[in-house]
Amino acid sequence: MPDIAYIDIKYLPGVGPKKADLLNKELGIYSYRDMLYYFPYKYIDRSKTYRIKEIDGNMPYIQLRGRILAYSTQGEGARRRLTATFSDGTGTVELVWFKGIRFITDKYKPGNEYTLFGKPTLFNGKINIAHPELDHVDDILDRNTGLQGYYTTTEKMKNNFLNSKGLQKIIYNLWNSLQGPLEESLSDEVINRARLIGINDAIRNIHFPLSVDKLRLAEFRLKFEELFYLQLHILRYTQLRSRKLGGFVFKHIGDYFNSFYHDVLPFELTEAQKRVIREIRSDVGSGRQMNRLLQGDVGSGKTLVALMCMLMALDNGFQACLMAPTEILATQHYETIRQLTEPIGIRTGLLTGSTRKKERETLLNELLTGEIHLLIGTHALIEDTVNFSNLGMVIIDEQHRFGVAQRAKLWKKNKIPPHVLVMTATPIPRTLAMTVYGDLDVSVIDELPPGRKPVQTLLQYDNKRSTLYTSLRRQIELGRQIYIVYPLIQESEKSDLKNLNDGYNHIREVFPEYKVCMVHGKMKPAEKDTEMQKFASGEAQIMVATTVIEVGVNVPNASVMVIENAERFGLSQLHQLRGRVGRGADQSYCILMTSYKITQDTRKRLEIMAETNDGFRISEADLQMRGPGDMEGTQQSGIAFNLKIANIAKDGQILQLARDMAREIIENDPYLEQPQHYILKKELNRLFAKQVNWSQIS
Ligand code: ADP
Ligand code: MG
Repeated sequence: MPDIAYIDIKYLPGVGPKKADLLNKELGIYSYRDMLYYFPYKYIDRSKTYRIKEIDGNMPYIQLRGRILAYSTQGEGARRRLTATFSDGTGTVELVWFKGIRFITDKYKPGNEYTLFGKPTLFNGKINIAHPELDHVDDILDRNTGLQGYYTTTEKMKNNFLNSKGLQKIIYNLWNSLQGPLEESLSDEVINRARLIGINDAIRNIHFPLSVDKLRLAEFRLKFEELFYLQLHILRYTQLRSRKLGGFVFKHIGDYFNSFYHDVLPFELTEAQKRVIREIRSDVGSGRQMNRLLQGDVGSGKTLVALMCMLMALDNGFQACLMAPTEILATQHYETIRQLTEPIGIRTGLLTGSTRKKERETLLNELLTGEIHLLIGTHALIEDTVNFSNLGMVIIDEQHRFGVAQRAKLWKKNKIPPHVLVMTATPIPRTLAMTVYGDLDVSVIDELPPGRKPVQTLLQYDNKRSTLYTSLRRQIELGRQIYIVYPLIQESEKSDLKNLNDGYNHIREVFPEYKVCMVHGKMKPAEKDTEMQKFASGEAQIMVATTVIEVGVNVPNASVMVIENAERFGLSQLHQLRGRVGRGADQSYCILMTSYKITQDTRKRLEIMAETNDGFRISEADLQMRGPGDMEGTQQSGIAFNLKIANIAKDGQILQLARDMAREIIENDPYLEQPQHYILKKELNRLFAKQVNWSQIS
């Protein structure tokens, strides 16, 4: 049989150029193979056929079998509708169509026997079914099964007879026209060890299940395969990379590290911080280039760990840099780090988009000569003009804000790539980390510094605003400061900006006796700085802001975070915002304001925030509810998140199994050269041939 990956779908009888064009454009289906790998998104059990006398208006979708007795039309123009009386001998129901009337009366003739599928509703004391699906009984595919697959289509496709059923027919014809069995796409070894069914069995049952059990086995096989190849791909390149690339060896812990630890560090490190530093120490001493992801909840003390890693580099004669996603954050890191390290003779530079030309020139010169030890900054760091004397360690804060390509540029700042530590404060569910950051080693700080009181989170409706203001006033009287955050999803959205401005004015009217400042992303850096400074110094009691304050801003005296239209934020984002308070010794509060009219789901989502402060639990819930495509970080990750059948949120166990097996194979045969791995290598090359080789960049 010719390889079905190379047969154009347009050659399948019943498809032709026009439909093929739609399949190409709407679904990315080009070949026979693509079509066979377009799977149903749900199945409906059609094994049971009801009798009309059994049905009532409360039933979900049901199946009937009977004949149309007669048609009639009512109404005029746009309000015209078609009704038909449908009978199976035990009773009658009324079928109703509001459009496509000509098509229906042409296609479905009174007297013929049809299978009907639809949702009965009670209307004016009669049961009717609007826009039912009708099939001539002889047309039903595969009568021996009750499970019918439903395929996602688009409006354009539906208008050209490519609805779910149209696709099903194409796949059915394709399947029956195949000249022989499909070539197996996994090795015997993998099939046996994971107890998978063969590819032919799987493809057949995923489209036309012979039973529920068969369907489950087919799903398992196809999900496993998908995740397995993804993991094999990630692990193969990670392995090859670490074999190919040496890293700087940081031989010793020296003066900078030790004097910082003993003389400067104002507190004891938490056990988790110590453990992570040990993990990093072992990486940088190994001779391999470190690529590590550091996860830790907001406020868990990642910055300090980052600093101590940079000191390891300095102690071994290297420079280090730290890149942060915003100017506010970079500046803040710079201030903190400079204060802590100046006393032990370290020179730190700050480079952002608003660094003046002259300053910049001096800075770049001093970087080249090695006079500057640490460089902190924003994206400005990755520009080609920024060159180091000897860069040994790169830290990237809030990784999810950066793309893989940006990481890559930092790699290239030295001949031998520097060690890389990426940090994220949005905890990533384990399963997502395995795919999105599958090539990185992971360290976790799972402990907060002692003495923190967990932030109390409350949901409040808009109509309780006056109570809110009373409590805010009380907090200010106690000497605390307050953040009020407005959603600004796109910094360019005018209406959002108006919201923010209105909010600002409103707050100033409500609190005339206090000073209110405002920060948003559209401001000039200097302006932003002035406003931030007002709040940081305590001059302003209230800060009205957008999510620009989401990451990293540190004002320990701020103890209340009010989030307006909380329903418009993702959970991880809310968690980040909440992390801006609870940094001092006082009890802190986070108040999520919503309108009274929110859906059940939204309420559930927000209630999770009130229930827990655990970032990992929150991100897990976020993943379950929103799916991986919407999670922060997945878009920039470099992995196309177009899984066909597996679901990162739900198939964690399969993922783990697939990863373990992939790892074992790669560890024994990194180049997949052994004969039993031939299929795997071939499949991998086919699947990932088109992708950028991001092995070298993450
Ligand atoms: P993250 O970046 O993980 O959100 P930070 O590094 O900004 O957290 O730390 C939050 C605050 O906790 C900072 O003020 C920092 O000085 C403080 N901190 C960090 N580690 C400790 C520790 N071991 N003990 C006490 N305070 C700590
Ligand atoms: Mg931080």
